[in-house]
Amino acid sequence: MTANKSEALGTFVIAPSELGSLISALREDGYEVIGPKLADGAIVHEPLESADDLPVGYDDEQEGGTYRVAKNGANTYFDYVVGPHSWKRYLFPPDQQLCQMRRQGKTFRLIETKQEIPRYAFFGVRSCDLHAMQVQDKVFDNGEFADPGYMERRKAAFVVVVNCLRPAATCFCASMDTGPRATGGYDLALTELASKGRHEFLVEVGSSRGEEIFAKVSGRPATEADQSAPETASAKAANAMKREMVPDVQALLKRNLEHRRWDDVAKRCLTCANCTLVCPTCFCTTVEDYTDLTGSTAERRRRWDSCFTMDFSYVHGGSVRRETYARYRQWMTHKLSSWFDQFDVSGCVGCGRCITWCPVGIDITEEARAIRDSEGSR
Ligand code: SF4
Ligand code: SF4
Repeated sequence: MTANKSEALGTFVIAPSELGSLISALREDGYEVIGPKLADGAIVHEPLESADDLPVGYDDEQEGGTYRVAKNGANTYFDYVVGPHSWKRYLFPPDQQLCQMRRQGKTFRLIETKQEIPRYAFFGVRSCDLHAMQVQDKVFDNGEFADPGYMERRKAAFVVVVNCLRPAATCFCASMDTGPRATGGYDLALTELASKGRHEFLVEVGSSRGEEIFAKVSGRPATEADQSAPETASAKAANAMKREMVPDVQALLKRNLEHRRWDDVAKRCLTCANCTLVCPTCFCTTVEDYTDLTGSTAERRRRWDSCFTMDFSYVHGGSVRRETYARYRQWMTHKLSSWFDQFDVSGCVGCGRCITWCPVGIDITEEARAIRDSEGSR
């Protein structure tokens, strides 16, 4: 298991060329390394074979309904922040077989299939996304209703964090206390130190597993000055954040379930479900059964779904949430309020994806602020 920062097992400095050694060490140890790659004009999470697959010299521009990746002329590896993919697609796959059956006479027999548990190494996890994994741990690793597949994949996963040194305009992790610097729960944490002719990475070792892998990478122990660099850089990134969540949003939304703002947002929302699909913590699914044409085999699959679809709240003859306002209200109040009642944590980590990938630029921070501001004018 990973450790808290207070239990850090050493801090080192490596050259950028050693990122390749780190990826090789993980692959030699049997991990499938998943990390940032440029594809179709976006930074996505895909398998990495070497450091050559990493997008060097790119940053991103994000705003409500806007995402652009562009070359920035630098030789840095991690100037962009989060893209449309979150790590949940690997720990909680979008489409998964739950069981398979074969017809035997007048009945069906369950076919035992043992699914192999992948050993992922997540390379380049941002602090908000690390918190999102910890939020999903509470959802899927919860005693009686635990999801054994999720738990096995999560337990096997090696986490290499990258601390954010600049926010996108849609980020608000600082106000959610989930970033921009990771403070624990990783195996290795990297901070890219690139200024005034210097280009190195500070590496914080957070687990014995991280220590074993890092032993195959060449570096030097960090000096005191090196060690203070991530804190300084992250504080700068936090100060540069343009958005924030209003304080006490949990109680604010509970007091305002019948607010006129829900009708206002319903005029803009297309109920497209983008916000739920890109969100690193959303976990709603549907279960579908399929048979082959001859009816001899059948399978049951679990697929990502969304509280924005009409079918999601269909019960016995109709949908509970027919109106757009009711679906948006359900999503936002769950994320920011009733999630605390269920899981003792916020369902939002401030990654900003729902703002960037909403085609009409609806902004969860702005909706919360509008409700808060209206209270003062009552
Ligand atoms: S609600 Fe939006 S900002 Fe919050 S975690 Fe989900 S996608 Fe990120
Ligand atoms: S808030 Fe935006 S992304 Fe979410 S369902 Fe409505 S239009 Fe789609």
